[in-house]
Amino acid sequence: MKYFSTRNDSIQYTFQEVVMTGLARDGGLFLPATIPDVTDSLKDWAKLSYRELALNIFQLYTGLDTITLRTIIDKSYSTFRYEEITPVVEMGDLHIMELFHGPTLAFKDVALQFLGNLFEHFLKQEKQILNIVAATSGDTGSAAIYGVRGKQGIRIFVMFPEGRISPAQERQMTSVLDDNVVNIALEGTFDDCQNLLKSLFNDLEFKDEYSLGSVNSINWARILAQIVYYFYGAFRVMEKTGSDSVRFSVPTGNFGDIFAGFVAHQMGLPIQKLILAANENDILSRFFKTGVYRTSPAMPTLSPSMDIQVASNFERYLYYKLGKNSVPLKEAMEHFAKEGEIKVNPGAEGIVDSLFAAESADTEETLSTIKHCYEKHNYLLDPHTAVGVNAAVKNPDPQCPTICLATAHPAKFDDAVKRATGKDLAYHEILERLKDLPVRKQVCANSAHAVRRIIEEKSNH
Ligand SMILES: *Cc1c(COP(=O)(O)O)cnc(C)c1O
Repeated sequence: MKYFSTRNDSIQYTFQEVVMTGLARDGGLFLPATIPDVTDSLKDWAKLSYRELALNIFQLYTGLDTITLRTIIDKSYSTFRYEEITPVVEMGDLHIMELFHGPTLAFKDVALQFLGNLFEHFLKQEKQILNIVAATSGDTGSAAIYGVRGKQGIRIFVMFPEGRISPAQERQMTSVLDDNVVNIALEGTFDDCQNLLKSLFNDLEFKDEYSLGSVNSINWARILAQIVYYFYGAFRVMEKTGSDSVRFSVPTGNFGDIFAGFVAHQMGLPIQKLILAANENDILSRFFKTGVYRTSPAMPTLSPSMDIQVASNFERYLYYKLGKNSVPLKEAMEHFAKEGEIKVNPGAEGIVDSLFAAESADTEETLSTIKHCYEKHNYLLDPHTAVGVNAAVKNPDPQCPTICLATAHPAKFDDAVKRATGKDLAYHEILERLKDLPVRKQVCANSAHAVRRIIEEKSNH
């Protein structure tokens, strides 16, 4: 499979280039030259285990041989606590697909375990090294660290705002003592971390000299890993209910997870609806309701991993929406950079895209959803998943079963659970055990110079 950039679809890239560079030099995002139609395979695929299903899907997109892929898949998913990887449970009328059984209890593990092993594979082959630099406000940092800890040829530098992330999230990162993991506690805000990250990557000389790499959500391999569970979940629920299609409700921030659902649909998986669920930062749900994509400042909510106002993966969807053509896409992105707005003409009946429904939930709705599901179904939701369940409830369809993606274990957000239920219910032994472990972090001044010094000193150079 060849790939191209959304901003220039006439140049081809290999899967390896796409994985190792993340973002195209022209600023665009990578997409596969074609999305294979697997309609004829669905019946056979429905019988496969998670790992075999992953193998079949990855074979279509990676060009890697079966033995290599099997090795990478086994390494990536043996760290999950369930053989099913992403089990589906029932909660009343809804089906919940639990994506949080990886090492850091968040759905990002599904993709980052895979990405870490892909990096290792390509680096070993080329005898190369990679210095990953990341900025995090919580979930991504720990999932990225667990994706690459102890791996040959890779070092990871994670910047987080000192004193501004939850103690549990900090411990998840700083208790990893592998030599190749450097935790940088930056004396600034999350925005400062992100700005420093940008400045490092914009300095192409430094970037090339130190082989800087990134793990952020625009990497195509992350999307690819996420396509698998849409198939897996749909098969389980179609089996159980006898329905011939399903709907998914997806708590959304950077549009990565739901875009994987969009690709699964393009491949022929019978998804009747993708319900986009946002918190108060609702740029995306407003887009699907009105056709206008306009930023406003991000505000902090109970579901911090969705506190995003510019969704980095949205450009991928927009490419398809604008007729699979990089010329209008590039114009739209340039217009967005200048004016902070993109407009798409709604089609029939004023609907932007009949595959998508969109909802947003505020703090009160999120809390009451957690409380209700606990009291009525004895099932604990984390606040991100609660936003998705709330959206599913607002969009009922008695004809078609709905699968809500559960993106984090409730114990990661125990404060919100306590606020909702009035009780200390959310607990996970993995998080408890971290409390006794030694930790390591390097406090760093809020300056590009200081961060560079740490990278120069500790890098695989
Ligand atoms: C990252 C994250 C999301 C949002 O996923 P996107 O791919 O950015 O849309 C939702 N829930 C949790 C718990 C997350 O960590």
